[in-house]
Amino acid sequence: MARKPVRPMHTIVGPIRTCVGCRERDTRATLTRVIACDGRLSVDAGNRAAGRGAWIHARATCLDTFARRGGFVRSLRCVIPKPQRAALRALFSEVQA
Ligand SMILES: [Zn+2]
Repeated sequence: MARKPVRPMHTIVGPIRTCVGCRERDTRATLTRVIACDGRLSVDAGNRAAGRGAWIHARATCLDTFARRGGFVRSLRCVIPKPQRAALRALFSEVQA
């Protein structure tokens, strides 16, 4: 873990993450953490599971965009097959339109 520079703005809004759907940057509170384990995606509801995580908005557009995209997920450092991507939406209990 690199030394964190002092950023007064971020102490207010919290750490910024990039959505793997729309690629917009947003606060962790707004995004849902997703982890990959053995090629399967799961939602990390508590934001505390070990390993690499990707962040995504709980929005239909972001989940659809993520599902349509193929191949390597940089933030997870692995390839997620399309069926696994499409299955992610079902793991969300609440998806905004
Ligand atoms: Zn998004």
